[in-house]
Amino acid sequence: MEDCLFCKIVKGEIPSNKVYEDEDILAFYDINPATPIHILVIPKKHITTHNDIKEEDSKIIGKIHMVINKIAEEKDFKEKGYRIIINCGEDGGQEVKHLHFHILAGKKLGEKIIG
Ligand code: 5GP
Ligand code: ZN
Repeated sequence: MEDCLFCKIVKGEIPSNKVYEDEDILAFYDINPATPIHILVIPKKHITTHNDIKEEDSKIIGKIHMVINKIAEEKDFKEKGYRIIINCGEDGGQEVKHLHFHILAGKKLGEKIIG
């Protein structure tokens, strides 16, 4: 995708502070962190929103969760816990139209919408 910010980050056209990278997935620190640790995990393949995940993407989505576990262990917030958020579309407040998983960690999160 030509004009996609996160595709540009994948291609290295826009710099990012990388946390993890493999052939399918990139994780990097959010430029405007909401918590002491705020990491974005994205598929390198352009998938616009959660609605656009296809059957063939199932493996990559599963792998993203394994990568999140790996990052949680390596960055040492596995035991304390964290929150994973996906914003989808207008009502979900999605600003960047390339599927991304927010990992929020490093403080006790109180602003729960559910639970
Ligand atoms: P959304 O609101 O779409 O779920 O989240 C987009 C996230 O991308 C926001 O938390 C925002 O701070 C982050 N972001 C926007 N532009 C950049 C950028 O150029 N670099 C990085 N690392 N994060 C960005
Ligand atoms: Zn993209």
